[in-house]
Amino acid sequence: MPTTGVAVYTGSFDPFHLGHEDIVRRAARIFPQLIVGVGINPEKPSMFAPTERVAMIREVLADLAGVEVIGFEGLTVRFARSRQARLLVRGIRALSDVDYEFTMSLTNSSLDADIETVFLMAHKEYTHLSSTLIRQIACHGGDLRDFVPLAVMQRLRARFAPAGPTP
Ligand code: ADP
Repeated sequence: MPTTGVAVYTGSFDPFHLGHEDIVRRAARIFPQLIVGVGINPEKPSMFAPTERVAMIREVLADLAGVEVIGFEGLTVRFARSRQARLLVRGIRALSDVDYEFTMSLTNSSLDADIETVFLMAHKEYTHLSSTLIRQIACHGGDLRDFVPLAVMQRLRARFAPAGPTP
């Protein structure tokens, strides 16, 4: 299958943070068409429902013409194929990510030999960011302004706003 210039960037994005956004914006400068695939796993509890995750990521990336945000279930390689993509974009934060990403990349190319994985290094400002960390900060009412895009912060605030006094 020839390269079509369509790339796919997948994750749970629960929630989407500034590290994810940076990878998308940089990848969008490299690939003419980029599909952000929001993984839906009905067996795994998530903080935001898939439709909410898709909606907020679309809002964050609304200015990028070549970027589409779509929810998907099942294997990443199947999702990529269904969108005529053979390139997977992944972000690498630190050496600790390399083991897992290397295994995933080998697995994906075993499942579909046409698939190539392209790695982008995390921006130095965002290497410490993870969705898990953000969920923990949000639960404890911490300030998320330096970690997530505005559209995500607003939804986190609405979700974790302290309850008002009971009448
Ligand atoms: P998962 O695929 O485990 O659900 P995430 O939704 O957290 O992972 O992340 C999706 C993709 O974004 C992965 O390629 C991951 O390495 C990358 N990523 C996660 N956090 C960062 C970060 N802070 N900077 C750059 N890339 C990141």
